[in-house]
Amino acid sequence: MNSDRRLIRKDSLEKLFKALKQNNKTIIGPALQNGKISYKISNNYSEITSDYIQTTQSSKEIAFPRTEKILAYSKNAEGMSVKGIDIKDIPEIVLWGVRPCDAIGIGELSAIFNWDYKDEIFNNRLSKVTVLGFSCSKADEYCFCTSVGGNPGNTEGSDILFTQLGENGDYLAEILTEKGSLIVSMAEALFERAGKVEKEKFLVDVPVRFNHEDVRNKLTTFFESGEWVQQSLKCLGCGACAYVCPTCACFDIQDEAHGKSGSRVRCWDSCGFSLFTLHTSGHNPREVQSQRWRQRIMHKFSYMPDRLSVFGCTGCGRCSRACPADMNILEHLISIQEATV
Ligand code: SF4
Ligand code: SF4
Repeated sequence: MNSDRRLIRKDSLEKLFKALKQNNKTIIGPALQNGKISYKISNNYSEITSDYIQTTQSSKEIAFPRTEKILAYSKNAEGMSVKGIDIKDIPEIVLWGVRPCDAIGIGELSAIFNWDYKDEIFNNRLSKVTVLGFSCSKADEYCFCTSVGGNPGNTEGSDILFTQLGENGDYLAEILTEKGSLIVSMAEALFERAGKVEKEKFLVDVPVRFNHEDVRNKLTTFFESGEWVQQSLKCLGCGACAYVCPTCACFDIQDEAHGKSGSRVRCWDSCGFSLFTLHTSGHNPREVQSQRWRQRIMHKFSYMPDRLSVFGCTGCGRCSRACPADMNILEHLISIQEATV
């Protein structure tokens, strides 16, 4: 559908929140917790903050939880019974305050979960989520959305994108999907017709730092480069970068058995872990950290665009903010672009 542009008063956001609660929506929004901005279930509008550049964790947990029981089984006299996840048990969620680099990541994650196999659990969860994006008026030195095809007011992935028109201004609401229209219908009176509004002048300027197509082309001949060793010298293999990333989708499957019953659990994993590719024979095709770092960059900037026609990085900068060893993906991508092979 074509975007429908409306205005909503700054003071009316709280009324919108209340209208969604009255319609039994579970609202998950950014809140200050232990000095960090995290997505959490918000029962009151006062719990939600708008004073943040980016949340520490991405919003991917909404459709791809950190740990998830994908089935439960039990043995009895009649045989084995297996129970999967019932879509009826998945709540309808409104995800409030998603930055554009997170919203676009939902599509990139979806490309992975629908590549060779359609992941029904992921798709069912996503079908119950409505994304209320909020454009960016602030950025930091880690942000590089414009280098990977995004921008601080990108509408992709949001059902409604709100852009604040000045520091204390009202909001432009771009209603982008049927799910977005449904939200508006719950509080129609709050959304006024918008005149001509140039939202671009209210967005933060994020300079383009590298050309992602140049990096992609460079990677076709870069596999054996010594640059990977240089770049990964500091890397501890802790996996924090993958856990905060909106597009990292590696997972492991574990069975937890208790006598005659048990569960099968899907949990996040990371290509940065030394055991990630360890074979039962003892052979590990990615024995050292430089090979694991190379895999992370190759996957996001070469394999994903080749296979799925999307990049696996939204430029959110979370991995660099979270890294305990100060690995900075933006600096590494610039040095790959500038390297002479
Ligand atoms: S967060 Fe930093 S140290 Fe940890 S695996 Fe990622 S790059 Fe390496
Ligand atoms: S690789 Fe880093 S900058 Fe890119 S999407 Fe993931 S966390 Fe964000």
